[in-house]
Amino acid sequence: MVFIGKLIFLRVQFVVMSKTIHTDICIIGAGPVGLFAIFEAGLLKLRCHLIDYLPQVGGQLSEIYPKKPIYDIPGYPIVGAQELVDNLMKQAEPFNPTFTLGERVETVDKQEDGSFIVTTHLGTTVACKVVAIAGGLGCFEPRKPAIANLEAFENKGIDYMVLDPEKFRDKKVVISGGGDSALDWSIFLADVAKELHLVHRGETFRGAPDSADKVKKLDEEGKLKLHLKANVTEISGDETLKSVVVETLEGEKTTVEVDYFLPLFGLSPKLGPIANWGLNVDKIAIEVDTKDYSTNVPGIFAIGDINTYENKLKLILCGFHEAALMAHAAYKIIFPNKKYTMKYTTVNGIESF
Ligand SMILES: Cc1cc2nc3c(=O)[nH]c(=O)nc-3n(C[C@H](O)[C@H](O)[C@H](O)COP(=O)(O)OP(=O)(O)OC[C@H]3O[C@@H](n4cnc5c(N)ncnc54)[C@H](O)[C@@H]3O)c2cc1C
Repeated sequence: MVFIGKLIFLRVQFVVMSKTIHTDICIIGAGPVGLFAIFEAGLLKLRCHLIDYLPQVGGQLSEIYPKKPIYDIPGYPIVGAQELVDNLMKQAEPFNPTFTLGERVETVDKQEDGSFIVTTHLGTTVACKVVAIAGGLGCFEPRKPAIANLEAFENKGIDYMVLDPEKFRDKKVVISGGGDSALDWSIFLADVAKELHLVHRGETFRGAPDSADKVKKLDEEGKLKLHLKANVTEISGDETLKSVVVETLEGEKTTVEVDYFLPLFGLSPKLGPIANWGLNVDKIAIEVDTKDYSTNVPGIFAIGDINTYENKLKLILCGFHEAALMAHAAYKIIFPNKKYTMKYTTVNGIESF
């Protein structure tokens, strides 16, 4: 795995597409709570496969506030959000979790034997005995610019997230946006793309000042073309995207030939497909029984920000507690005839598998 600031590229191919992945617990959502659930399940020798719609693990911490300090994680007087995510990944490592990233879970189907088939929007299927929904605020959906025909070229030249930067090697790319994501990817793709444009409607950037300086330097060096006080206002092509029109606020239009257009205007959370899985939902959260964080569907649990109960606190530490109780309840479902006696990690240590 390669970490570059917030951008995490998973060079390891975690799953083989079109094959069904078999696991004990399928965890939907790889935020901090989903990641800690791997550890708690691992202590009970339960295997986990995680699915997240985002291209990286870490949920809100990596997507919204990677550089902010957190002060209320027990035992850490202060810890950076991304640092906590990196530590959770390290803590989960002995239990060899597997991941499908960049895919949204669409359906959860209960089988006759009580197990589940979980399917993503790209057709990846996971067969599991227990489902733990750790979906936080729901799926982060891209904020789309108001450009005619945008949907017609989605996945045919228009991408809202960078899943694999190699896709853009030696290609003509236009990025638009003024936040960290647009800046970070402009800096990274300046060495990858054949031709790179960054279009931003303002004169100053919302993203980190250091990244904005780097982008301006790349523009001076001719490694990318910066279009300030401008927007992409038109797109055209045939089977795939062929060109975009960059229009300044004064109305001057330039047609740019492209292979890819990346509108990177950030992501906003929506409950998404979770609402259709037959679960008792109160507003945008799943109702659970606090004895084990089970939902109304036996075998499906909901932990972390996605659940609701009396006095619920949307805090990471509460999600960690919920993950521990969920794992023990999952053990009873997966091994109905075995009795588990809880042992401290200080006594047993960590037995990896
Ligand atoms: C600015 C900010 C500061 C914060 N500071 C603190 C703090 O100091 N202390 C604290 O305790 N908490 C803090 N929080 C809250 C904390 O971030 C959340 O409680 C925590 O992220 C919840 O973790 P989670 O794993 O439940 O969900 P999330 O972190 O939201 O992760 C859920 C994941 O599920 C994925 N997902 C959802 N639906 C699907 C689907 N259908 N298919 C695939 N993937 C799906 C999403 O893509 C997401 O990555 C803060 C929040 C914000 C926004």
